[in-house]
Amino acid sequence: MPDNRAMSALPPTIDDSAPWQHDTPVRLSPRVQRLTAPNAGVMTGPGTNSYLIGTPQTGFVVVDPGPMDTDHIQRLWQACPHPDGSGGHIVHIVCTHSHADHAPAARPLQALCPQRPPVWGLPSAPTARANSQFTPDQSLQNEELITLIPCGPEANLALNSVRLRAIHTPGHAANHLCLLLEEEALLFSGDHILNGSTTVIDPPDGHMGDYLHSLDTLSSLCEAHGVRYILPAHGNVLDGALATIAKLKAHRLQREAKVLAAMQALPKGSPKEWVPLAYDDVDARLWPLAQRSLLAHVEHLQELQQAPTP
Ligand SMILES: [Zn+2]
Repeated sequence: MPDNRAMSALPPTIDDSAPWQHDTPVRLSPRVQRLTAPNAGVMTGPGTNSYLIGTPQTGFVVVDPGPMDTDHIQRLWQACPHPDGSGGHIVHIVCTHSHADHAPAARPLQALCPQRPPVWGLPSAPTARANSQFTPDQSLQNEELITLIPCGPEANLALNSVRLRAIHTPGHAANHLCLLLEEEALLFSGDHILNGSTTVIDPPDGHMGDYLHSLDTLSSLCEAHGVRYILPAHGNVLDGALATIAKLKAHRLQREAKVLAAMQALPKGSPKEWVPLAYDDVDARLWPLAQRSLLAHVEHLQELQQAPTP
């Protein structure tokens, strides 16, 4: 049964115009802060966004603690205070997936907390690369809830409670999941949806058919819950969830049409020869990377039995 007190709170309006910084968390909503790891780069944008969800009254869920960076881990610990101001009030740690810029900080952060909060997520699939092996303490089932209940007066309940729903979204990684903060209708999209860069689909752990299907899942979820904002693991908050997802899907299908056209133009060609045709609008320095996503499109076309036979 839904908690009407929690549901009565309006979703927040988010202003995400402050400049990037890595030293202190940025408050985005009553329950959400963002602390960005200092690992900016071509693949990571301004760095990996770790999200801290909760309050000193409930304790915190840390989503995507990030890469193995001692200073960042220490800052995460500090940014999750008890009501008396001391740090490390972490109740749960969740990894959206096992890539090296998301999950490695989970164990050292857990070790800093005497209560040893469980690390949640999905175990990496056998297809994961060597640097993305991951075994959580607890596997999150699809639609499973992680909850935080405040201590103190009853009146605090509606203001502070946290219901975080896990949604399985394979595609970027086989063990990828997104999270919906139900009280504020916010979607944490991990690497499935990014702002400022394109999600890499790197087979075999990445899979284009799964990726597109997961976009549909997220679209239905956002519609059902009235989600306006998407909080990605790299880049700023995205305003306009449904339009963002629709645009992403259209972009992928347009790219797939270009890949198909390249394969038809050069039926005996190789992926390396198809990339300049299918990605002619993309900086040539990114072509080696684009080749991985091209392979994912080729696989998807083959699964749909649309790929031309050489
Ligand atoms: Zn990733």
